[in-house]
Amino acid sequence: MENSKSGGALNSRLRCGEEVRLFSSMKRSIRAMVGVQVKHVEFLREGRQISGFEDTLVITANKWKAAQQAYAQHVREHGC
Ligand SMILES: [Zn+2]
Repeated sequence: MENSKSGGALNSRLRCGEEVRLFSSMKRSIRAMVGVQVKHVEFLREGRQISGFEDTLVITANKWKAAQQAYAQHVREHGC
């Protein structure tokens, strides 16, 4: 009975689908970026060169930044 008028407030306690989606895309982009760095360290340890490593790192870092911003913006606008 006491919750009959507070549907909107209650909904904000549930995880919003878009928030879940953006969060997992943010996690995926971190993992991709870390994966590139781990691979680079392995190659360095074996004394091998990787061509195009810095480009790949910049691309994955930009994806992570974009995913982070999209997530932060959604949470700010949605309050979820
Ligand atoms: Zn949301």
